[in-house]
Amino acid sequence: MSKIGFIGLGNMGGPMVANLITAGHEVSAFDISADALARAVATGATAATNGVDAAKNAEIVITMLPAGKHVRSVFLEDDKVMDLVAKNTLLIDCSTIDVVTARAAIVEAEQRGLEMVDAPVSGGIGGAQAGTLTFMCGGTEGAFARAEPILKVMGKNVFHAGDAGAGQAVKVCNNLMLAIQMISVSEGFALGDKLGLDRQKLFDIVSTATSQCWAMTSYCPVPGPVPSSPANNDYAAGFTVAMMLKDLLLAREASSEVGATTPLGSQATDMFAAFAAEGNENLDFSAIFKQIEDA
Ligand code: NAD
Repeated sequence: MSKIGFIGLGNMGGPMVANLITAGHEVSAFDISADALARAVATGATAATNGVDAAKNAEIVITMLPAGKHVRSVFLEDDKVMDLVAKNTLLIDCSTIDVVTARAAIVEAEQRGLEMVDAPVSGGIGGAQAGTLTFMCGGTEGAFARAEPILKVMGKNVFHAGDAGAGQAVKVCNNLMLAIQMISVSEGFALGDKLGLDRQKLFDIVSTATSQCWAMTSYCPVPGPVPSSPANNDYAAGFTVAMMLKDLLLAREASSEVGATTPLGSQATDMFAAFAAEGNENLDFSAIFKQIEDA
């Protein structure tokens, strides 16, 4: 069993910690939100007083933070975790962040003799709770081999995508596709409504036809067909509009860095930006259906 320092105990980090504890690992946890920290303590984590306190005696440090600036703050700028952990500590960043920051963080870790992987996830809060996340990892073979067993406690599929930053690169491609698929499913259901179709019948047919995808069958944006989808809970997140917009902006940044053409990605970014600007940033991203339906 490992001693783990876990920093960032929000919608994703909280249930990930719970699964580590259930598997018998010792978790020292920290979040700047007292509520998030209290929830993790209720699942069996030990409360740390700051990021360094969570990390200092750990064999593995895992972060699950909102964006690249938070990862830099914890590892390098404010908490300076990289300067204060023991030499053989393994660092695993599960946040979704930009490829440039992910690569730079791993270089900084290696300069200090530490191994680190970028290991963003797919699967949402449901996957975090059930321990069925998909992890996409970047880093050396050696660092991945050390990270894989602990990631398997929190996930079902753990992939080594390539060198430093490759996990984030896969994640950006995945979420670009997901945003476009959610808009496409929403447009289909909005058109179906106007054509007078029964939503359940439309779902039953297209979910076994060629437009079948996760955005429809696991996370359907209209209430009814998939009882666990946020649409049945007033679009409570889930995965927020703000986070999807963040990932689409990461995809836009990555596309322009490498000269890739992503026209539907650009349009999806504009649609989510407009929806967020109308005060919807904390809704689940599947609420984009309402915008399309009401247009
Ligand atoms: P969240 O906002 O619920 O949790 C992030 C937590 O980090 C918050 O509790 C916040 O207080 C904490 N935090 C911020 N700065 C900190 C610091 N300096 N030290 C300690 N704690 C700090 O976000 P989430 O939904 O858990 O997502 C986390 C990451 O996972 C994001 O990068 C997101 O893009 C990614 N992700 C989320 C989902 C999802 O469905 N929510 C799915 C896949 C990936």
